[in-house]
Amino acid sequence: MKTRGAILRQAPGKYEVGDLVLDEPIEDEIQVELVASGLCHSDYHVATGDLPVERFPICGGHEGAGVVQKVGPNTRGWDIGDHVVFSFLPACGRCHWCATGHQNLCDRGASGLSGPRADGSPRLRMNDGTNVDHMLGISTFAAHTIAHVNSAIKVDKDLPLEKLCLLGCGVGTGWARRSTLPKSARATP
Ligand SMILES: [Zn+2]
Ligand SMILES: [Zn+2]
Repeated sequence: MKTRGAILRQAPGKYEVGDLVLDEPIEDEIQVELVASGLCHSDYHVATGDLPVERFPICGGHEGAGVVQKVGPNTRGWDIGDHVVFSFLPACGRCHWCATGHQNLCDRGASGLSGPRADGSPRLRMNDGTNVDHMLGISTFAAHTIAHVNSAIKVDKDLPLEKLCLLGCGVGTGWARRSTLPKSARATP
């Protein structure tokens, strides 16, 4: 399908909003219409070049929330219309790290900034056919995106997606950072 998103062609560079072509979701993937996306400092650092990625162009954004539009074949536990918050780190639940309670170190997250989706193929293209990489597997700076279900958390439909989207990176990163500091060094919230 056709959609639009903010892509970076190089670093240092600027995000440009343009037309994109989105593939159909495959097994264990969902296609989501984004309702809200946060702008995290890491997106800025990718644009300045301080946070290197393997390839350009890349569609930015790694904290977002939206509504499921399509569900890949043989994908269990998801339905059209489900509300979803993306996590910038996937959690497979089966690798050594996930199985020992360290989902933040899931093996699936190791390639988050090195390009294509989990099966090695791109999901986004420009109109001229140029492949566009996924930011941390989710690319939330787009009207629609495709993500692996390991990067998606289903949420109740009466919760505000424009607020929940911040749980995908900012809240978790900030809270964890604060909680690891000694009490004397913590700022008063
Ligand atoms: Zn972030
Ligand atoms: Zn894992």
